Amino acid sequence: MQLKRLEAYGFKSFADKIEIEFDHGVTAIVGPNGSGKSNITDAIRWVLGEQNVRNLRGTKSEDIIFTGSSSRKPLGIAEVTLTLLNDGDLSLPFDEITVTRRLFRSGESEFFINKGKCRLKDIYALFADTGLGHDGISVISQNKMDDILNSRPEERRLFFEETAGITKFRDRKNESVKK
Ligand code: ATP
Ligand code: MG
Repeated sequence: MQLKRLEAYGFKSFADKIEIEFDHGVTAIVGPNGSGKSNITDAIRWVLGEQNVRNLRGTKSEDIIFTGSSSRKPLGIAEVTLTLLNDGDLSLPFDEITVTRRLFRSGESEFFINKGKCRLKDIYALFADTGLGHDGISVISQNKMDDILNSRPEERRLFFEETAGITKFRDRKNESVKK
């Protein structure tokens, strides 16, 4: 699976629609402090189904909708679409899959897969076991990096074990040793 494109409108600082094409290899986004680099990863997390607004650096869901500036009125909607190239990891018979999430200032939200309306749990199901889901560790924030670097060796080990997917085996081993 590969990220192909991210489109965002009304999401946080993006009052105008932005469109980012991801090429093969590594994409680096550079810019001054406060220019919106982290808002891009927040948009990816959000469209993948993040429900905890604190993980998007907000306090209430409305915080992800453009709040306006001295020259622009606030917007009433935030919309993010992520396009992925599917090489078989995603269990839908399409080479290209788009996932869209919308939030209206009224609080109503909508989810779409390939432009067809769906439920949040369909998005969770689509990304389950791919590492890209809302609870996956494929998006690592600055704070998370600090947490990992400042953690004690035992905590850091747990993080690596979880990332490597061996936590469940350790738990099973502990269970059988107890018996
Ligand atoms: P740094 O280099 O410091 O990490 P950054 O490029 O990652 O900066 P972001 O944190 O992505 O910057 O962007 C922060 C900016 O987004 C702030 O200026 C903030 O005011 C703006 N912002 C966040 N939410 C909204 C919103 N709902 N409406 C308008 N602007 C917003
Ligand atoms: Mg940042």
